Amino acid sequence: MSNQTNTAITITVPYIAGDGIGPEIWQAARPVIDAAIAKAYGQTKRIDWLEILAGEAAFKQTGTWLPDETIDTIKNYKLALKGPLTTPIGEGFRSLNVTLRQTLDLYACVRPVRYFAGVPSPLKEPEKTDMVIFRENTEDVYAGIEFAVDDPQTKTLIELLTHQFNVHHIRFPEDTALGIKPISISGSRRLIKAAIDYALAHDRQTVTLVHKGNIMKFTEGGFKNWGYQLAESDYKDQCFTMAQFARLKQSAGEAAAQEALTTAKASGKLIINDMIADNFLQQILLYPEKYDVIATCNLNGDYISDALAAQVGGIGIAPGANINYDTGAAIFEATHGTAPDIVGFGKANPCSMLLSAGMLLSYIGWQEAADLITAAIESALAAQQVTADFASLLPEATCLSTQAFGQWLTDSLST
Ligand code: NAD
Repeated sequence: MSNQTNTAITITVPYIAGDGIGPEIWQAARPVIDAAIAKAYGQTKRIDWLEILAGEAAFKQTGTWLPDETIDTIKNYKLALKGPLTTPIGEGFRSLNVTLRQTLDLYACVRPVRYFAGVPSPLKEPEKTDMVIFRENTEDVYAGIEFAVDDPQTKTLIELLTHQFNVHHIRFPEDTALGIKPISISGSRRLIKAAIDYALAHDRQTVTLVHKGNIMKFTEGGFKNWGYQLAESDYKDQCFTMAQFARLKQSAGEAAAQEALTTAKASGKLIINDMIADNFLQQILLYPEKYDVIATCNLNGDYISDALAAQVGGIGIAPGANINYDTGAAIFEATHGTAPDIVGFGKANPCSMLLSAGMLLSYIGWQEAADLITAAIESALAAQQVTADFASLLPEATCLSTQAFGQWLTDSLST
């Protein structure tokens, strides 16, 4: 929501500082974000930060982990920046993050993964990793449809499956827990559409549909097939799919299919291909340069996001966003957890929060400020000014506290 007084544009952005290291990284990050906006736009644009509560802070103040007011505020402003939240322990509590994503139907979890020079990485050539993951956020085994081993409903469901659906291969029907994996055409299409739209808008070369359709034919296999169908029906002139390639190969031979692929690439078409998830996890280590935009189901996306984050330096520097491209609602968040082991020691890296704020700025069209945040982080790393997580792997680097690192970035943006 924006206010225009005279020539100044003010956008209100609700924020959740978060639990654990959340407040530390927020305090370090906020001045950096404000300094980037001031440098990019002088007095003409600013953010009015509006604190909203979730997690432990909310529980202490209101007795509720996720107050309705918080959800209403995000719905109203359609935006939020969020630190990590503790998952409450105990029966009946779901992850607050999952609840937020599902309540606001934030169906796309978007994770850009790129390498920053100077960051310690386990790869020999980490700069070859440059991908954007679109993880489906509302379906799959994360939908929370589970039946406990001792729940009488589980027995009823197993009987139904056995007697009505002729399912006889539940190995231990007497003591089995059950989970249900919903994957829909609608849910898959909107996620894959978001990935294709992103790839086209950002001049990317490929979208890879990552799935386990070899085993889960109707759910994850469906995801793949519906993705190909979507590309061939709604993006006929902009995309060439490897399903088209396979059909052409069968009807006209390998050479004709290769020629069609070469022509599609030469004419700048986006190539849509697919890969089995386990193979994909090998390929991103061996040939990361071959992958670009990724569209995948919820559980695969969870594993892939963390694996890719580790390739380029870990979760301290991994930003993310949860977006509903239909309503426009979006929460930008540090992707790591509350890091209870380092709370209060000034060891937390605020880059994940900062780069998430950069994604938010880019989302509202303030790309210049987003670019300045990225550039400030690049210059800190080039000058070997780092927080403890990187300093322990870089003997030559200067180890700064969370706050001092934020100050270094703010100073670099204020000159
Ligand atoms: P974690 O991400 O909090 O910590 C894993 C490791 O990474 C720890 O060694 C930690 O010190 C380190 N680490 C994390 N963020 C860092 C940063 N910014 N700078 C430097 N080091 C960092 O994962 P966990 O320990 O499994 O989870 C702790 C809590 O966080 C749990 O309650 C979990 O449910 C919650 N969690 C929340 C989110 C979220 O809000 N998005 C995500 C994951 C976990």
